[in-house]
Amino acid sequence: MTPNHDRPTLVWLRDDLRIADNPALAAAVAGGREIVALFVLDDLSPDLRPIGAASRWWLHRSLAAFARRFEAIGGRLCLRRGAAGEIVAAVAAEVDAAEVLWNRRYLPAAVAIDRDLKHRLRAEGRRVESFRAGLLHEPPTVTTAGGNAFRVFTPFWRACRATAPFRAPLPAPPAIRAARRPLPSLGLDELGLLPRTPYWAAGLDETWTPGEAGAAVRLARFLDHGLAGYAEGRDRPDRDHTSQLSPHLRFGEISPFTIAAAVAARVEADPSLGPDAEKFLAELGWREFAHHLTFHFGDLATRNFQPRFDAFPWVDDDRFVAAWRRGLTGYPIVDAGMRQLWATGTMHNRVRMVVASFLTKHGLIDWRDGERWFFDTLVDACPAVNPASWQWVAGSGADAAPYFRIFNPVSQGTKFDPAGDYVRRWVPELARLPASVIHAPWTASRATLEAAGLVLGRDYPAPIVDHTRARDRALTAFAATSAHR
Ligand code: FAD
Repeated sequence: MTPNHDRPTLVWLRDDLRIADNPALAAAVAGGREIVALFVLDDLSPDLRPIGAASRWWLHRSLAAFARRFEAIGGRLCLRRGAAGEIVAAVAAEVDAAEVLWNRRYLPAAVAIDRDLKHRLRAEGRRVESFRAGLLHEPPTVTTAGGNAFRVFTPFWRACRATAPFRAPLPAPPAIRAARRPLPSLGLDELGLLPRTPYWAAGLDETWTPGEAGAAVRLARFLDHGLAGYAEGRDRPDRDHTSQLSPHLRFGEISPFTIAAAVAARVEADPSLGPDAEKFLAELGWREFAHHLTFHFGDLATRNFQPRFDAFPWVDDDRFVAAWRRGLTGYPIVDAGMRQLWATGTMHNRVRMVVASFLTKHGLIDWRDGERWFFDTLVDACPAVNPASWQWVAGSGADAAPYFRIFNPVSQGTKFDPAGDYVRRWVPELARLPASVIHAPWTASRATLEAAGLVLGRDYPAPIVDHTRARDRALTAFAATSAHR
């Protein structure tokens, strides 16, 4: 039976704001019907975590970039706001969609919304299909030999790597046949995603180009300048070795299949890149692992993965939290990271680990406080990766760093930012200090401080805690928790 082509295909876009390698969109084009493309800003579904302020800025720019590109090939993006399950069902009825397509997502609350909607739409006689798009390995397909979910990264990733090679990315459709009858849409500004008074996102505007084209530029740049030497260089915040693809991946402006295929092509051309490429893929693997954990074990943003941490004696210390947020702890590597975050919406991975360790171990502040701050301020804030990473650092997570591994912010700085360039960039008041003391200004002689034009306690704070004392306090607290096993 030939399909009734008056009834369109509804494509529901979510964390997949791209045209290339977008399986739901490709299937809609292949189906030959008119296409209605819909994005719903869902800040009403009670179980979905509302996105943070930096992510809202990104989403605004990303939707604008997608709409422009989509229109250039004949498409039209419809924007709505509300509880997504309700809105999608209403739009499907409004246009009398013959079929509704989307790419799958994996957070339990989102899975529940999608499952209910699927039943509802099918009951209404519409065809529904969903696709794998955002993860190389979908959580239900990777299990231990006994059929259980993995809790440890290395065997998880080994099992992933043992599966068939990744599928080739799908090309961008050359043209979209939009529905002739335009669907009423909110204007992008009506979603209210951008900050208003004050407009604090100028640093984000300078740093990022959200959208598919921006993602492609980042990938090309990484392949040319970052991949060779990545395995070692990725730990150096003073260098530019990492891809900066995380926010683009978070909003689905580029697919992991596209990234994996591009990396594989480079390795084919130059096999000496193999070890760097494996390391890079393993980082994508950590992203997959976080989604896997969230899918199988549920909420990681509010609940300790290891219940024995429920008894951990976290402290309330507003002064410590405020100094940490503002980059005024007196530990230069911590302060540089927190200021980079505030100015640009991102922070180097090594420094994320150092600042998270500093908050939870030197400050004994509950990791959930730090997770929430990151969630609001990071442009790549991911509801799966962010909590899993915080729990990893805090020691309460799956396959976590052992709690007693307490980063020394001075030696981390000297090791990974040896000349102090990263600190000089983000903590300009320390810029004239020599490398020998830049990670511990309180150890500088009076003459050195004078030569650098720096008065500690006036221009830059003295350390908020003593490292050795803080370390001992954290170990004592942890010992108390361990007793609750
Ligand atoms: P690259 O080194 O180029 O890596 C390529 C991709 O692999 C990244 O884009 C990212 O998608 C993934 N990746 C890299 N490192 C990790 C990692 N350690 N864990 C999981 N995935 C990784 N990443 C997020 O995407 N969103 C978050 O909300 C987030 N919160 C974090 C919170 C803490 C406390 C820590 C320690 C790490 C967090 N990360 C988060 C992981 C990591 O810091 C970023 O993914 C990375 O810094 C992004 O830079 P990049 O794209 O240049 O990474």
